[in-house]
Amino acid sequence: MLLNGSNIEQTRSYNRRVVLEAVRLTGPISRAEIARATSLSPQTVSNIARELETLGLLRDDGRRRIKRGQPPKDLTINPDGGYTVGLQIDREHLIAVLVNLTGDLLQRRDIVVEDPVPERSLPLMAAVVGEIVAAANLARERVFGVGVVMPGPFDVDGLTSVGPTTLPGWSGVDVGEALSRLVGLPVLVENDATAAAVGERFYGAARDLQHFYYLFIGTGLGSGMILEGQPYKGAWGNAGEIGHMIVMPGGKDCPCGNQGCLEQYVSLHAALQTLRAAGKPVHSAEDIARLYDDRDPDLDGWIDLAAAQLRTAITGIENLFDPESILIGGYLPDNVMQALMARLEPLNPSVSNRRNRQRPRLTRATAGTAATALGAAVLPLFEMMSPSLQVLLKSDRNGQR
Ligand SMILES: [Zn+2]
Repeated sequence: MLLNGSNIEQTRSYNRRVVLEAVRLTGPISRAEIARATSLSPQTVSNIARELETLGLLRDDGRRRIKRGQPPKDLTINPDGGYTVGLQIDREHLIAVLVNLTGDLLQRRDIVVEDPVPERSLPLMAAVVGEIVAAANLARERVFGVGVVMPGPFDVDGLTSVGPTTLPGWSGVDVGEALSRLVGLPVLVENDATAAAVGERFYGAARDLQHFYYLFIGTGLGSGMILEGQPYKGAWGNAGEIGHMIVMPGGKDCPCGNQGCLEQYVSLHAALQTLRAAGKPVHSAEDIARLYDDRDPDLDGWIDLAAAQLRTAITGIENLFDPESILIGGYLPDNVMQALMARLEPLNPSVSNRRNRQRPRLTRATAGTAATALGAAVLPLFEMMSPSLQVLLKSDRNGQR
């Protein structure tokens, strides 16, 4: 990568994001408060705020005073300043959501797919984008982009498209470019765990966190890392594949070629497999939820073993990353997730074991079947609005960020 020097436009772009972030996290907020919080001059804040209002991203709610004598807190994000689409595709479902700038869910579609190969799925994804934008009756130029989440890892020799947790046939397909050509909008592609982490950072349980680790218990087990407020993806976009960390040498076979990988013990797939081996006819998270309500002993045993494996992994994560908190979320049913988190306690000693903690070591992530699709919808907003050093290092592609 070549490092470009920072020019005035890049600095302005960075400052615009700093102001947007301040309003997003703490609005309604006055211009004077933004200036104090960001160390930008009042004049700069005032200019940027006017510019963002003209673009429709910020709203000035007039001279409304909260209390007599206090300065007006008048700037908020304009919910209808723009919209994004999130798409989540896995082996069985395509979920599509349309959200506004404050993350309100405006449209949602759940489509059952069979054998989602790219030749059929890409046109279907493009069609559903067109359909939900039309259904919401929006000006198309206010739709900023599309985020897509797919199960990772991406394009690893011998690992991609192997086993029950990845999508076959997508290796070597540039999903972002192909879909962007079909829908005429910018498209960002991310794995499910990273998208969920970005979603939590933007709207959810991690709004105020700068350093956190998100354990995503999906069909497999993945993780997303937010370091210094930004997602860390690794050189090839595959950082965080914690599911393939070997926790039991010589243990269960994993499609990656190793034995005893963590996701063979901690994942929706692992739970289903264990229960089926015990003769329980289970096919979905809902089936597992029912077994939990019936106090099924095989499910109880699975939760115990999963908790033991996950507790060890958490000790490693804490010692490696020193996060403010570890978020846990994904596709396990609510009651099982709650039981699993309870059985993780007491956690092992680690660098995170401090008396003056502001946050608990573990945080439950926002639940909901659309959580990942919402995370996908945040990707274009995050790219556009979040202040990162990269904005100062990279030249702007369209000069408008
Ligand atoms: Zn593995």
